[in-house]
Amino acid sequence: MISMNVKLSKGVLMPQIGLGVYKMTDEEETIHAIRTAIETGYRAIDTASYYFNEREVGQAIKESGIAREELFITTKVWNDDQGYDNTLRAFEKSLELLGLDYIDLYLTHWPVPEKFTDTYRAIERLYEEKAIRLPGVSNHYEKHLLALENTANVQPEVNQVELHPYLQQNELRAFCKERDIAITAWSPIGKGTVLSDPLIQSIAKNKGKTPAQIVLRWHIQLGNIVIPKSVTASRIKENFSLKDFELSGSEMEKIGRLDRNGRLGANPQLDDFMKYFK
Ligand code: NDP
Repeated sequence: MISMNVKLSKGVLMPQIGLGVYKMTDEEETIHAIRTAIETGYRAIDTASYYFNEREVGQAIKESGIAREELFITTKVWNDDQGYDNTLRAFEKSLELLGLDYIDLYLTHWPVPEKFTDTYRAIERLYEEKAIRLPGVSNHYEKHLLALENTANVQPEVNQVELHPYLQQNELRAFCKERDIAITAWSPIGKGTVLSDPLIQSIAKNKGKTPAQIVLRWHIQLGNIVIPKSVTASRIKENFSLKDFELSGSEMEKIGRLDRNGRLGANPQLDDFMKYFK
């Protein structure tokens, strides 16, 4: 049985499955989903200031009664708040809304041109001051990571990117692996779109598992961290139940062949990707 933690480059263990909370806007539903996840065994929550639910995440954590050090909380600095001073201010606001005194992993949400290196300098400062346990980034491609190599003293521990069977990011995964930067897959089940794929359906049927479990298990075997989002109790449990089966080498290879540049979000490799957010 493989471990359900990923050992990051500084030796910290990060849970390989966390709950993503994007688009959870209803207060009660959000708290209920997070409480269900924690009761199921999840110990990692992935939020962002942009999700406007940091207060609910904090509330659910408090209500869960789980010791703070057992949890792994990720949040992110939004595009409008980037730059050195703004990032420090945005961090204070996130901390206050979450009701926490430190964050486990703080990420630059997107590599905003002309700002992301300064944003990351602020994240490094928060790391040096021990306000965060680990610095990281999201949606950074090779050119962004190379820019940080010139401006940063501490490399990001994690790069969180869109990744699912229809967008497998093999080049970026290899680039990050060389540098010991872990990959978190956002939209790990492609927002549900990959679940009706005939190959995924047939593997699921053969194994007596659900399509979501097949896709999440594929990620786990590749070494990706996954943060599937669900507000549905049965799915929250299903997505966490991945330990009692394994995909064969040939099943992994077949899923590998589903790669088709099927991107769902913005493409930060394009110079004008910020247009996506206008
Ligand atoms: P996901 O790939 O996690 O898919 C979520 C969707 O799938 C929801 O509609 C959910 O429905 C449904 N679903 C969940 N589990 C199952 C299941 N077992 N069977 C069938 N359907 C299921 O997409 P997200 O875009 O939400 O990505 C996950 C997380 O990644 C986000 O919540 C966020 O934390 C992070 N993210 C980060 C980004 C970044 O820029 N860094 C960008 C986008 C996301 P329901 O809730 O109704 O059960």
